[in-house]
Amino acid sequence: MTDKYVYEFSEGDASMKNLLGGKGANLAEMTGLGMPVPQGFTITTEACTQYYADGEQINDAIQAEILTYVGKLEGMTGKKFGDLDNPLLVSVRSGARASMPGMMDTILNLGMNDEVAARFAEKTNNPRFAYDSYRRFIQMYSDVVMEVGKSYFEKLIDEMKEERGVKLDTELTAEDLKELAEKFKAQYKDKVGTDFPSDPVEQLFGAIKAVFRSWDNPRAVYYRRMNDIPGSWGTAVNVQSMVFGNTGDTSGTGVAFSRNPATGEAGLFGEFLMNAQGEDVVAGIRTPETIDQLKDENPAVYAQFADIVSSLENHYADMQDMEFTIEDGKLFMLQTRNGKRTAAAAFKIACDLVDEGKITPEKAVAMIDPKQIDALLHPQFDGAELKAATPIGKGLPASPGAACGKVSFTAEDAAARGKTGEPVILVRLETTPEDIEGMHHSQGILTARGGMTSHAAVVARGMGTCCVSGLGDVTFAADGKSFSLGGQTFTENDWLSLDGSTGNVYGQQIATVPAEIGGYFGRIMEWADQYRTMNVRTNADTPADARQAREFGAEGIGLCRTEHMFFETDRIAAIREMIVSKTVEQREAALAKLLPMQRGDFEGIYEAMEGFPVTIRLLDPPLHEFLPTDEDDIVALAADMNISVDELKNVIASLHEFNPMMGHRGCRLDVTYPEIGAMQTRAIIEAAINVQKAHPEWKIVPEIMIPLVGEVKELAFVKKIITDTADAIIADSDVALEYKVGTMIEIPRAAITADEIAKEAEFFSFGTNDLTQMTFGFSRDDAGKFLDAYYDKKIYENDPFARLDQDGVGKLVKTAVELGKSTRPDIKLGICGEHGGDPSSIEFCQKVGLNYVSCSPFRVPIARLAAAQSALNNK
Ligand code: ADP
Ligand code: MG
Ligand code: MG
Repeated sequence: MTDKYVYEFSEGDASMKNLLGGKGANLAEMTGLGMPVPQGFTITTEACTQYYADGEQINDAIQAEILTYVGKLEGMTGKKFGDLDNPLLVSVRSGARASMPGMMDTILNLGMNDEVAARFAEKTNNPRFAYDSYRRFIQMYSDVVMEVGKSYFEKLIDEMKEERGVKLDTELTAEDLKELAEKFKAQYKDKVGTDFPSDPVEQLFGAIKAVFRSWDNPRAVYYRRMNDIPGSWGTAVNVQSMVFGNTGDTSGTGVAFSRNPATGEAGLFGEFLMNAQGEDVVAGIRTPETIDQLKDENPAVYAQFADIVSSLENHYADMQDMEFTIEDGKLFMLQTRNGKRTAAAAFKIACDLVDEGKITPEKAVAMIDPKQIDALLHPQFDGAELKAATPIGKGLPASPGAACGKVSFTAEDAAARGKTGEPVILVRLETTPEDIEGMHHSQGILTARGGMTSHAAVVARGMGTCCVSGLGDVTFAADGKSFSLGGQTFTENDWLSLDGSTGNVYGQQIATVPAEIGGYFGRIMEWADQYRTMNVRTNADTPADARQAREFGAEGIGLCRTEHMFFETDRIAAIREMIVSKTVEQREAALAKLLPMQRGDFEGIYEAMEGFPVTIRLLDPPLHEFLPTDEDDIVALAADMNISVDELKNVIASLHEFNPMMGHRGCRLDVTYPEIGAMQTRAIIEAAINVQKAHPEWKIVPEIMIPLVGEVKELAFVKKIITDTADAIIADSDVALEYKVGTMIEIPRAAITADEIAKEAEFFSFGTNDLTQMTFGFSRDDAGKFLDAYYDKKIYENDPFARLDQDGVGKLVKTAVELGKSTRPDIKLGICGEHGGDPSSIEFCQKVGLNYVSCSPFRVPIARLAAAQSALNNK
């Protein structure tokens, strides 16, 4: 048990991120570097965990400790809470270990009350500033702590501006703002039922609790699930003395990156606003100036800032994202962190830092988020179509890529439609953190307000989603159900195309084409491949997929599903005939028709894989999936097969299963109909012999995989069908072909009897989709209906089909690995479920000692990078 829950900034450093959160650790680090940081203290993430352990309360000991540090801060600043002559005003800021932009809410100017504001107005000789700060505090406190809702206050501001006949907040006078503060307090009392708290200590504890609570708000929980952040980490709270960017024209506030976060270009990049506070820059209420203009505004401060930026970048050896405030011409640093960036920028920055001698190639590989690669592999507009199109508007190129979809006006609608696979473009005045799920399900995001660092821009870049922001020409209809742009009116379902790299907006559908992968990407991947110890294969069923995967660097096929080939129109008749056959002879006749088709498919796949290993799985799904349901199809099939329609319908009815996922499928098909396995083996082996002959430079070793095995005897039975068939064909040929027979481990019984299974199986491939399904006892296709309730109730934090459940399913994998190796030390081990492309699951595969991961072609580069990082982490 710790008994220290609070640290002054001067007591911490960057290595204490887990305890102090990212923001707190970096404030401490900057303090240690002697940079101008308004002083304060950090309440640790452990205090947050303790708050939840104590039933959402701050216990007496921690309260007392916090008050001690308030005293220390008062001593340090010479200011006092509630003191009229020299009031201490603070910000209360959350900060988790991993940065969660916009997820947690900050309160500024805490410590204000009627008397303090009045004296502050006098003392600073700036009543406008004093009352602006006061009304902001009431607004933030009401929203964050009491959840009154921002809109009530915005409405009051708008009404006031309307009455006064002004457009900008800055045009409101001190008297106006004072009146506004009164109205805000009345609004608070109306909604909350009690007076607005005037005691700074009460305000402080209210705010700290609100930060702790916000750790569990739905937006934060959703963000964590998307980013694999465990709920147990908690957030720290930073209490920091205020500096003011809103005292007048010699003050201001801004955000900056040490390199361009969209392109990676070297050089300071950012925005600022004079006479503004806190979130004004990112909120998109006023359009900010670019950081270069600060040079004209205040050259000395600009020079000092540029200096700090380069020291910070060198110190952290990574691109920094910083917040600063200028108070009456004096610069203060309020935050630094490793900046979020686009995938393209991430690769360029990593290579540039290596070239500048600031990091090693290992660090370059480690610093790229594998999930981001997706964005690079995403489509761009078709060149010809783009040329022919004329933009109807131009906003800021906030997050690159091309997007085409139908207009959606609310995040809820975008999420609902996006989930069904409909391409949507979310069109908003500006986005807020509540919109995150809708943004996630959109192809692209268009906002009327906001700069390059607005919420929409930052979040979209993080997601790799195309975004155009600050398109001021958009005007929304009063009912919010249409907007006009470039003389056209758009309603829901109208097509819109966005170019996130130029900011161009098109009022039409423009085709997109796959991305081209540039030079920086290649360099990093080459390094990654040097560090990687696991192989990366792909799941591919067609020669085209196999070729795509090879281009992305796949080193073989981990799963080729033979059934997908059967759905093509020229084959479905033959496969249906096979299924409804009553005798072995009938079935063999149908299979004979399928043989040349399968053989051709496999030849194409071996060719595409150029001698890399290919694992082919025997037929797996329930047969009725192939049966006709349409009356016309049934009549046609009956005629083909020379049987009556009624007879055929009887056969179809007899194939009905109550629970097909656990029915007559997988190796059970070969146990009942050995001729199916025999035909497939023949196709696999004959194709291999043909391709081997054509390419003596390759060594083709087919790996035949038997699905859904639960018992070694059924494996032995099916294996014998395979070896009998294969050995006979090979003996008859003039090629000494080698082949392997192995199994999927996807039934819990196979995992826990893996020592037995390994007697027959030369390799295991973990089919973690079925294994997850069978272990949890719920199906992937139905889980969506109830998993949300499980997330809400904190029973599960993640979708176990997306991220391997390491405690349960992972334990089965680990057990099977150990048992399998005990029987057959050189057994080849891989994974071929969806998890094979998920970075945290890949790390797990590295730890348990798998030889390879296999994933869909577009995830191959992600897996290569994640595998390299896992190898580096587990060196
Ligand atoms: P977020 O994590 O959402 O960026 P922050 O805690 O960084 O939230 O703060 C929100 C805004 O308030 C930022 O613009 C920040 O610079 C500003 N801010 C925070 N603390 C202070 C302070 N002590 N003085 C002046 N501005 C502050
Ligand atoms: Mg911040
Ligand atoms: Mg399976």
